[in-house]
Amino acid sequence: MTILVVEDEVKITRFIKKGLEMEHYTVDVAYDGQEALDKAEINNYDLIILDILLPKIDGVEVCRKLREDKVETPIIMLTAKDTIDDRIKGLDAGADDYLVKPFAFGELVARIRALLRREKTVNTTKLQVGDLILDPATHEVFRNGKEVQLSSKEYRLLDYMMRRPGHVCTRTMIGEHIWGYNFKDDSNVIDVYISYLRRKIDSGFNRKLIHTVRDVGYKIQDKSANNHLNNKK
Ligand code: CA
Repeated sequence: MTILVVEDEVKITRFIKKGLEMEHYTVDVAYDGQEALDKAEINNYDLIILDILLPKIDGVEVCRKLREDKVETPIIMLTAKDTIDDRIKGLDAGADDYLVKPFAFGELVARIRALLRREKTVNTTKLQVGDLILDPATHEVFRNGKEVQLSSKEYRLLDYMMRRPGHVCTRTMIGEHIWGYNFKDDSNVIDVYISYLRRKIDSGFNRKLIHTVRDVGYKIQDKSANNHLNNKK
């Protein structure tokens, strides 16, 4: 689960980030409205925490723009002023919930859980690539009917790729989504995790599902899918 926190006050950002990481979320941060838009358009966040008072583009406008661009990520607005006006503007712009500053951290976490739960009930369709199946509801993974045990990072990496079958997942996309904004592009951690996944998913099978896209990243695809169908008796 990756959450984007958009807030220009460094103290608050640090406080939210630290707290959410302790709750095992991956946290990415944007310090102004433009950065928020840029990041939200490329990355597939699970949730966005969006302050209203921001440099460059304010939170209400960021929210409106994201919804216009069909980014459906759940959004919690933060507002400094407890004015009905601000809340209505935020919700009108497409936010799912709002929280008035200062707030108790426990309350923020409770709202996040509630929103993600709501999302989950919508998004529990099993993902399938060839004979590899991932069940987001139970976090179970099966290859050829046999369960595969994955660590939480391996699972998130596989989930991320299986939601984009046949599409290249660049190292940057994977890094920012799974490891967060402090991801170092020169590290080989992604290649290491891909090799773990390959060992668990592809090793022992003729049909490999994880493919290297040279110099760019990786993709998951059942390349023999068409042949396979044609050859069926
Ligand atoms: Ca602010």
